[in-house]
Amino acid sequence: MAKKKESGNQANGLSWDYSASPESISHIQLKAKYDLFIGGEFVKPSSGKYFKTINPANEEVLAEVAYGNEKDIDKAVKAARKAYTEVWSVMPPKDRAKYIYRIARLMQERAREFAVIESLDSGKTIRESRDVDVPLACNHFFYYAGWADKLEYAFPNRPIESLGVAGQITPWNFPILMAAWKIAPALAAGNCVVLKPAETTPLTALKLAEIIRDSGLPAGVVNIVTGYGDTGAALVNHPDIDKIAFTGSTGVGKIIQKAIAATNKKCTLELGGKSANIILEDAPLDQAVEGIINGIFFNQGHVCCAGSRLLVQESVADVVVKKLKDRMKTLLVGDPMDKNTDVGAVNSKAQLEIIEKYIKIGIDEGAEMFQVDCTVPKKGYYCKPTIFTNLAQSSRIAQEEIFGPVLTIQTFRTVDEAIQKANNSPYGLAAGVWTDKGSRIFNLTTKLDAGVIWANSYNKFDPTSPFGGFKESGFGREGGLHGLASYLK
Ligand code: NDP
Repeated sequence: MAKKKESGNQANGLSWDYSASPESISHIQLKAKYDLFIGGEFVKPSSGKYFKTINPANEEVLAEVAYGNEKDIDKAVKAARKAYTEVWSVMPPKDRAKYIYRIARLMQERAREFAVIESLDSGKTIRESRDVDVPLACNHFFYYAGWADKLEYAFPNRPIESLGVAGQITPWNFPILMAAWKIAPALAAGNCVVLKPAETTPLTALKLAEIIRDSGLPAGVVNIVTGYGDTGAALVNHPDIDKIAFTGSTGVGKIIQKAIAATNKKCTLELGGKSANIILEDAPLDQAVEGIINGIFFNQGHVCCAGSRLLVQESVADVVVKKLKDRMKTLLVGDPMDKNTDVGAVNSKAQLEIIEKYIKIGIDEGAEMFQVDCTVPKKGYYCKPTIFTNLAQSSRIAQEEIFGPVLTIQTFRTVDEAIQKANNSPYGLAAGVWTDKGSRIFNLTTKLDAGVIWANSYNKFDPTSPFGGFKESGFGREGGLHGLASYLK
């Protein structure tokens, strides 16, 4: 079926069609029902209950997944503690490294299967899961496997001692990548883990469990317990957990911090964001427009560090907004499994409702909205790429995290004003700076309250590079040596 690319063409007086280019899903194997992965095997949940995980692109059920409760978490923590004491902590680091390499290679061999399942379960485009999420997840295992037997070089002049058992909780926006961010450094530093994936996207973590079992990793080193928020809470509150690594919303991050306040548990929190993408008048504007698009529409805007607040110098604002609208009109929104698609499905009905609520708030606040005039599939959860101009710094859509393909645009006259506006946020996760001058980059990057700042690029990730925030975006870093250090005493 030929798909008509409508709107951009109207602007340019051009018209062209894309033929559909669907990724084949015939090669993937999904079970009808998934159990919990505890002690090296798949076991039934003590509740006997299962929940459905659906494909947000068409609302069809993909599989049923076990609902783990307090008892299952206890079983998993016990399995992890046993594996830690008896096997993993006493194993020579070079042997631990071999297992982590093996997981990386097995994952790489089955990369296509991982990519397809990730897109089916999350709604993200197949291009993204194939070219970004899965390769990056493999690279995290490769990278940390490399450090596993070199910890004394990574951290010279200090005793190297692992923490014990880590409880790890991940969100739905980068399911397999977040699992890799959490599991790989923990294992490399000599810890065992219990991972709780997000309820709407558990399937790739369960695929990873199959790979882990096939890799021969000693039983109990990695345990994966699926479930709801209360499953995560049971993990946080378990008395035999040494560290909690959480990625998710600021609200749940605060609950976790309170829950562990009077304990010895270590903690890293990777929370929400409302990151400023700053375009100075001397920036290469065409590249900057690509950076804006990538900053906010990548992964449907479900990105904690999304460049969701655009700050443009007033002298170039009109031309940037015009170029941006033209570029937005060329975005293909629709079936995530089509290799042409730029913006896939929103992860869940609940998230779509949140995004739509914010779009209404923006309109009610008097901001000017522009939305791409495209058709989206009738079934499934889709949101057209949206931008807002003419809004106040205090408006809710400029202050609160929307976590969808919605960009707010404000202008500034001086660099100081840009810094003030960018820092006027409860969050401090990321920022982007676009300019021709290195001195301006250094000036801005030293003054912006953000854990990650990209210069003349956006949303670039690498396992060697630490990632994390300030203020309500959390604390602690994942990735690089910083990510490894947080799994050592
Ligand atoms: P949530 O905080 O709702 O959920 C994150 C994880 O925590 C899920 O596995 C969830 O389970 C679990 N959970 C929910 N309640 C509790 C609880 N009381 N105790 C322990 N665990 C709990 O966030 P979302 O999944 O909705 O993810 C979106 C949010 O995550 C956004 O705000 C985004 O900014 C942030 N995020 C931050 C990142 C960063 O690196 N800074 C990266 C990615 C996302 P369940 O799925 O069953 O609800």
